[in-house]
Amino acid sequence: MRKVMLFTLLCSACQRQEQIPFQEANLALIANPGFDGTRLGPKQIALTFDDGPDESTFWIAWYLETQGIHATFFQNGKRYCRQLDVDNQCVLGPETRGCDNGAAQVYVADPIYYPESLMDTIQNLGHHVANHSQDHCNLFYENNDDNLSWEVQTTQNILDRHIKDGFFAFRAPYGSWNNRDSDVIHQNQALNKLVGPVVWNIDGGDFACWANGLSVNQCVALYMKSYQAAGKHGVVLMHDRPEWNVTSLQPFYFVVAFVKALQADGVEFVDLTGAVCPIRDDACVNRCGNIKDLCGRSVHCDACPTYDQVACPTAIETCKGKCGTVISACNIPVDCGRCPNYEQLACPTAIETCAGKCGTVLNTCNIPIDCGRCPTYTQISSHLGLGF
Ligand SMILES: [Zn+2]
Repeated sequence: MRKVMLFTLLCSACQRQEQIPFQEANLALIANPGFDGTRLGPKQIALTFDDGPDESTFWIAWYLETQGIHATFFQNGKRYCRQLDVDNQCVLGPETRGCDNGAAQVYVADPIYYPESLMDTIQNLGHHVANHSQDHCNLFYENNDDNLSWEVQTTQNILDRHIKDGFFAFRAPYGSWNNRDSDVIHQNQALNKLVGPVVWNIDGGDFACWANGLSVNQCVALYMKSYQAAGKHGVVLMHDRPEWNVTSLQPFYFVVAFVKALQADGVEFVDLTGAVCPIRDDACVNRCGNIKDLCGRSVHCDACPTYDQVACPTAIETCKGKCGTVISACNIPVDCGRCPNYEQLACPTAIETCAGKCGTVLNTCNIPIDCGRCPTYTQISSHLGLGF
């Protein structure tokens, strides 16, 4: 009993427990290496198009919709006009910064700048529009943090005026992405909703097909080979803007032929969200209640604990070394049981026992206490000024 009481006297107040963040909104998942099609089931295929828009974009979106297929178009902000006149002519081109490493896509003498309403059209046909950066720089070499953030933010600003499905996907140009890129983007609160980078596991190099003069069927053969090598499921990379053949409709003709080949093999076309969004159980890890998952879908997780359940210490923790009514770290009075009487508490501390004493002293509970070395006779006489 006495030992318990000694502990009572020594015990200090319990620390407030750290509160668990149990609910967050769409959280960023800009991570390296990113999402490919490995979450998809057998023969499930998600189609994606990069670098647009261009002349094929609308036709691809329209054709796919006739087939009940919904794709994702990763777009570069610099393809879009900032200001149209009354005749829909572009009178103010896009913002652009160029790339830190001086690289650029193939030069186009008289580029077309598309109206932002094209994004609405693409979505109305059942597809997603998504972020492929403003200038299509290789972000691995975008050494200036501000430029890197600007490349993603500027295009997202355009997209945000139009995205209505809550799916904010991002794909890095060339698929080039590293942990430092992730860190920089994470520091930009406005980009926390992005999901990605979205990568791919099926690619037949369509831009090279057209640059090298291959036929549509030859290019389809390259893609079917990649599709088989990937185990017949995954995310397909294509380009609605052919970099070396801008405005060519080859991408559209190619998509029609490729889709027919995939349909003949019994493919199930799925939305990209199936490849990048967590299944329900993943979405609810460390979260609770009604939440939005990474793709903006509503998910019902288990009920959230109350604040008290999460953040307040238990009665046992609050009462450790204490008695009577104790106010917990959450300002809740907790009954910690009857306090001991005076006799039970009567053993003095070492400081109390040693007041004015030295050497080994028995306290009033008959416990020997070491009160430190006693001064020598000389020290005492010196202190008292006796001159010995
Ligand atoms: Zn690209």
